[in-house]
Amino acid sequence: MNEYDSDVIKDMLIKNGFLYTKSPEDADIIIVNGCVVREKPEKKAVEVLKYFKDRGKFTIAAGCIAQKDKDALKSVSNIVIGPMEYDSLVEVIGKDGVYTDFARYRYRFYKYAEKRKDVSFSEYVTIMTGCDNFCSYCVVPFTRGREQSRSVEAIRREVEYLVSKGAVEITLIGQNVNSYFYNGVDFKDLLEKVATVGPQRIRFTTSHPRDISVAVFDVMRKYDNIMPWLHLPLQTGSTRLLKEMRRGYTKEEYIYITKLARKIIPDLTISTDIMVAYPTETEEDFEETLEVVREVQFDYAYMFIYSPRKPSSAYYRYKEQIPREIAVKRHRRLVDTVQEIVTEKRTEMIGKRYRLLIDGYSKKNPNVSRGKTEGNITVVVNEKIPVGTFIDVIIKEVRGTTPVGIVIR
Ligand code: SAH
Ligand code: SF4
Repeated sequence: MNEYDSDVIKDMLIKNGFLYTKSPEDADIIIVNGCVVREKPEKKAVEVLKYFKDRGKFTIAAGCIAQKDKDALKSVSNIVIGPMEYDSLVEVIGKDGVYTDFARYRYRFYKYAEKRKDVSFSEYVTIMTGCDNFCSYCVVPFTRGREQSRSVEAIRREVEYLVSKGAVEITLIGQNVNSYFYNGVDFKDLLEKVATVGPQRIRFTTSHPRDISVAVFDVMRKYDNIMPWLHLPLQTGSTRLLKEMRRGYTKEEYIYITKLARKIIPDLTISTDIMVAYPTETEEDFEETLEVVREVQFDYAYMFIYSPRKPSSAYYRYKEQIPREIAVKRHRRLVDTVQEIVTEKRTEMIGKRYRLLIDGYSKKNPNVSRGKTEGNITVVVNEKIPVGTFIDVIIKEVRGTTPVGIVIR
């Protein structure tokens, strides 16, 4: 989401006569578009702002970070600007101030996205912003405001434009894409409309276990260009904690929906987000998380230790946190359990054929290319292949958890 917004900000500024440089030392203005979902990235963003402010740059704190703690940011930035006010950025550059008014929110900003200049082979398209879920631990509803779906026409125009400029992969993004609704068009309808525009690969994220439907699975199966990949955050396997978190589903419902999805969509991969050490989490609660992980057999997972985030409700509700040593231990056990499953799944790929979309090169060796399968699994190939190319490979081995493919010509 922030990556997409940063691209749009860049395009908006270029169209208004600013120049872009990859090297921050050459820049007069530094914009830091920061995330505050967890504590660490927030701290990092503040450090970067301070570093450049101390070196005499005009600094701008943008994004959710601006919405969360504007007073703290003033000392390290000339401008503090929230996501709801991005389209006033051009007018306010040069004028120090705080621009974080939710009420001013306009989708106008995204008109810059519709005709962006640098189109890559793979692009994000925002379909909705904000979130109304108020999960107990989460700051997003406070930083991004109420959920708003973007118009079908704007989304379609943007996708058509990107495809005409050579994008072969489009990822529809939003905090909770399954609750998309605009003038009678729901998420499954939108997905179908985007599929008929014809990008070769369509993905979407993030889905919510409470809102995803069989109708969406049916559309995924129907269109070959909708990729068989589902990112479905679990958070915890304990129904008691899911209730505390206000997630709106039980452990059993989560397992049921993922099994159903695997049944309907051939070769589906499922990834997830999991949090450990939510306040009051017991050993038994944690064991339930491991149980779901084993039962669902995730293809990969992002795993976090809970961090209290002001002004989420959990931040105020719980006086005590799970001790750090226990949290770290649970996180370790979770990572090990997921790793075991992932290793087994990757090993099962050996000897099978996959279509990759090449998206980059190994950091250590530029002659080794990286690409993603339809299921969003990264595979490496010992050849230099241009990014944006589709190739077919057979997996010959697995190094660590990374499959290595041989190109079929
Ligand atoms: N809208 C998405 C993603 C939200 S943020 C969703 O509903 O899932 C991405 C992930 O960060 C979440 O899925 C959650 O696992 C994690 N996260 C959010 N708040 C957190 C917190 N306070 N502490 C630790 N992890 C958190
Ligand atoms: Fe946060 Fe929950 Fe909304 Fe995701 S669905 S952004 S976790 S409040």
